Amino acid sequence: MADPLWLADVLRADGLTVIEHEGWKDRGHGDFRDLRGVLCHHTAGGGKNDWRIVQDGRADLAGPLAQLVLERDGTFRVIAAGVCWHAGRGSWPGWPTDNANYHVIGIEAVSRGDGSDWTPAQLEAYKRGCAAILRKIGRDADDCVGHKEYSAEGKIDPAGIDMDDFREDVQKFLDGNPNTAGGTDMPSANEVVKALLETRIPRPDGTPGETVGNVLAWTDQHAAQLVVEQLGPGSDGIRGPVANPKRWPELGNRTQVEALMAILDALKIAPRAAK
Ligand SMILES: [Zn+2]
Repeated sequence: MADPLWLADVLRADGLTVIEHEGWKDRGHGDFRDLRGVLCHHTAGGGKNDWRIVQDGRADLAGPLAQLVLERDGTFRVIAAGVCWHAGRGSWPGWPTDNANYHVIGIEAVSRGDGSDWTPAQLEAYKRGCAAILRKIGRDADDCVGHKEYSAEGKIDPAGIDMDDFREDVQKFLDGNPNTAGGTDMPSANEVVKALLETRIPRPDGTPGETVGNVLAWTDQHAAQLVVEQLGPGSDGIRGPVANPKRWPELGNRTQVEALMAILDALKIAPRAAK
């Protein structure tokens, strides 16, 4: 059997908050065949008790109706490890037509179902959770599918989510670039630093001058050079021993310090003890 008894662990390992429902490892309508992806739904309820229907079912359909429930605060409830009734009739490349329940994990995300009440925490957890599952089963974001995409029965869930954008973010989580995923327009720390270093500092006349990156590099370089010139050979620079101190032809190829030492020698002035 291919039941995902690892569901809670895999989600938790990705930093997600998980509630394990009593008996989830034994709950389901039989065992999975093989795992090929994740099917995304909304509950069309939106309340704190949406999970009850997912776990227990409704008059016309026995529960469990999905392996996972995603609360509005981003918490995952692990409901079942066995097969659940959520996919219905439909098709998707690489999935068995009208028989996806035995091959894909269902996530029921708590939402009214009009696409207006998703929270940022919920959307981020939705993508992270899908990525964690897909990574575990060796699939990529192409196998993260909306019920509205799969269904031949006119399903609209998850409403308000563009699944192409969603998959793009899921793939970023899979590729290990979480800073650039998450569905917000916030730039990553790396992007901010890169933009700063490429910014040109205006000259006094207002025209664009050197980049911040160049100025920083030159400042660093010149500071290091000054240390060398002042301290002489064998002295310790900020980053360890100075390798090639500046020697002045005018001083007989001495460093400034060596030239001063030569003068002291010639005048027979004993060097003072270093303090
Ligand atoms: Zn659905």
